[in-house]
Order: sequence, then structure tokens, then C-alpha cells
Amino acid sequence: MSVRPFGDSYLVDAEDGTHFVSLGESNCSCDAANDPCKHIRRVAIEINIGRLPPPDGRTVECPGCGDDVPISAAQESPTLCRDCDLQPGDLVVDAEGSPETPLIVVSSPGPPAELVPVSDAECTVADYPGNGDYDSEVPVVEVIYPQAVSTDRPPRRYLFPVTRLAKPTSDHDGSLSGYSTAEND
Ligand SMILES: [Zn+2]
Ligand SMILES: [Zn+2]
Repeated sequence: MSVRPFGDSYLVDAEDGTHFVSLGESNCSCDAANDPCKHIRRVAIEINIGRLPPPDGRTVECPGCGDDVPISAAQESPTLCRDCDLQPGDLVVDAEGSPETPLIVVSSPGPPAELVPVSDAECTVADYPGNGDYDSEVPVVEVIYPQAVSTDRPPRRYLFPVTRLAKPTSDHDGSLSGYSTAEND
């Protein structure tokens, strides 16, 4: 058997095929009745003797909140934890704005705020007025204000440090649940 790291898990190449072993929940794709199976035990042994990195050895700090985030070899930066990560289509509110004004995320988190220029302000997103309280290393996302969307022109995109935006919590569920976005296309 040979073992290789795969994301925050491991792949074990055995005679009967390749097995996927996750140590967090002690899962193995072989579904053997004896628990832990020989694949999990093999991974544990290799980690103990130092031939494999432990699963928590491959983490990065989330630039949003500082939590450790497991990274996979296939992952592209930036690596945000599940709580901080935003994806196109997510409905968010501006922490410095009205909690009743939803914004729509239109880009995945990109480069850090200190590197992204604001086109009409001759400064970076990190230096933009109102963003001083946010870490200059957090990734920037683009959002649009759906109220301002018109059929006449492309929607204006605004850049925010990702940590300035919050997904509406259960507090706001009521006020936002009836909200729908109009597609102008
Ligand atoms: Zn197994
Ligand atoms: Zn985070």
C-alpha cells in the first residue's frame, strides 16, 4: 500500500484499488466492517512515523477571520473559511450601510484589498474611505446594488473587502425572505 495526501485527506493505493481516507471522521471509502480499516491504520502509522503530514498540517489562516482553513492541493488562493467565503449570487449586506439594503455578490473573492485599485478614486480598496477598519490583506469582492440595476446600462460594480460584507443572519431572514432579484437581460 502506498499513501499520498489528497486535500485534507489521503488516498491509499492498495491491491484492490484506491481508497479515500479522511481522518477527521475516520472514514474510508472501502466501507470495511472492521473499524478502523487497514487503510485508516496505514495512514495513521505513516503520520506517526513522520512520512506523511498530519491532516491539520496543511491549513492557512483565513484572511477574513483568522481561523485555520484546511487547504487542498487543488485549491487556488485566496482561501477563506466557509463563514467568510462569498460566491457570485450571494446576498449580503454592507456592515457600514443599512442592514435593509441587500447587495448581490458578482465575483468570487479576488486579490487583497491593498492591491486592488478603485478606478475613480486613485487609491486602493484598502485605502478607500470607510475601509480603514478592515484588514488590507482580505480579498476583494465585487457587488452590485440590485435596486440600481437598469436595462439601459450595465450595473455599476462596487468593490468591498470581503469582511465588510455579511450574509444576512437569521435576524434579517424575515426582511429579506421575500426579496427577489430582477434579471434584466
Ligand atoms: Zn479502508
Ligand atoms: Zn473566516
